[in-house]
Amino acid sequence: MANTYLILGMGKSGQAAAKWLQARGTKVLTLDDHSPTKSTVTLNNIPWNDIAAVIQSPGVPYTFPAPHPITAMAQARNIPILTDINLLQQAHPKARFVGITGTNGKSTTTALIGHILSHSGHPCSVGGNIGVPVLSLPPLKENETYVLELSSFQLEVSALLNLDVAGWLNITPDHLDRHGSLENYIAEKKKIFLKAHNAVINLDDEFSLQVCQYFKNKGKVVVGVSCTQQTDIYVERGIFYDNQNAVIDLSLIESLQGLHNYQNAATAYAVCKLLNVPAADIAEAFKTFSGLAHRQEIVGRFKNITFVNDSKATNAEATIHAFNRYANQAIYWIAGGRPKSQGIHPLKDFFSNIRHVFLIGEAQNDFAKTLDGSMPYTLSGNLDKALTDAFEMILKNATDQPAVILLSPACASYDQFQSFEHRGDVFRTLVTQLIESYI
Ligand code: ADP
Repeated sequence: MANTYLILGMGKSGQAAAKWLQARGTKVLTLDDHSPTKSTVTLNNIPWNDIAAVIQSPGVPYTFPAPHPITAMAQARNIPILTDINLLQQAHPKARFVGITGTNGKSTTTALIGHILSHSGHPCSVGGNIGVPVLSLPPLKENETYVLELSSFQLEVSALLNLDVAGWLNITPDHLDRHGSLENYIAEKKKIFLKAHNAVINLDDEFSLQVCQYFKNKGKVVVGVSCTQQTDIYVERGIFYDNQNAVIDLSLIESLQGLHNYQNAATAYAVCKLLNVPAADIAEAFKTFSGLAHRQEIVGRFKNITFVNDSKATNAEATIHAFNRYANQAIYWIAGGRPKSQGIHPLKDFFSNIRHVFLIGEAQNDFAKTLDGSMPYTLSGNLDKALTDAFEMILKNATDQPAVILLSPACASYDQFQSFEHRGDVFRTLVTQLIESYI
């Protein structure tokens, strides 16, 4: 009888899945193309007759440009391909599940929902793409809630998820190298709603509006949220409205500044209301949310200069929000890394507002070409040099005008760092050292 699980991809989530299954007495085989030491089988010696299911990690290609050979072999044999999230759901069918997706803001919103639930006394556990493998989360019972950040990669592979509430933030082109086209990317993300009992959709971009309409046409009840138009739940000039009733002034909450955070807060609010958290409790919880590291995180101040670590801005869309937030300050921008398909083209309208850009990493020459004389730039090469270049330039200008040195790379980090967290941590350390050397 087939009684063995084959784990494909032995990163953090694959390792947690192996441990979890073995703790339950299940036989496990593992395969990771990049790590023979973490593999117990190779492509050619898999005992397919014993395999009950493949647990596929989100980093392993599922459809585009081609399925991984194991995925294809399992499909040909009608062997189920699941994710760690499917296993979690099977193991805890009584717990409530919330899933959050979107191009940007997933981690912030997921963490905010976890914060609101904890703050109002609802047991919950937060994980998924936010960096905590779901199979390392504790077991939860009825009326206790898993709050999961779900990437398009996880949604693509997961057999349909039974979510109590699914929340959708926004869509802009991203990860097209993995999905092949924007249409495919949106189609994968839309899977979040297929078996969801309640849907919350942000209406602030054209694609999300279409998705909302699509599900409404299918007879689903959708709670619309927005920070650009009046709908069920919306934010207007910082004031948060629920069905036209003002709930809280978000502009007073430091960790939720900027339109993008209004969008995150509106989504979190709508989700928590569907989980029966009273509006007043949600508003109270907003006040004590501390925000997440690497997302417009202030990591230092020196005289008139604020240092901002927005290392998580790995695409241009995320950087737009940092530009908007600091629009009334002189922005000295650090950009570059491993570029995304659109590069910094989506930021062109902002170029005239930026004092100077310091370019780093693989993208620096291409980005310099995109700038085409519309913004002064320096080819700094690496983060350390970019920070010093920016700092010295501001000091040389000798003005009192508030200035911000903004690391918001609009690029992935892997050319020079292990991860966006590593890049942000290095920036934070460099800023501390720089400030200490001047005081
Ligand atoms: P994700 O988990 O989807 O990558 P994060 O919450 O980690 O999202 O934020 C990633 C980046 O996107 C940060 O630079 C952050 O400032 C920016 N951001 C956060 N929320 C939003 C949003 N709703 N829309 C656009 N950008 C956002």
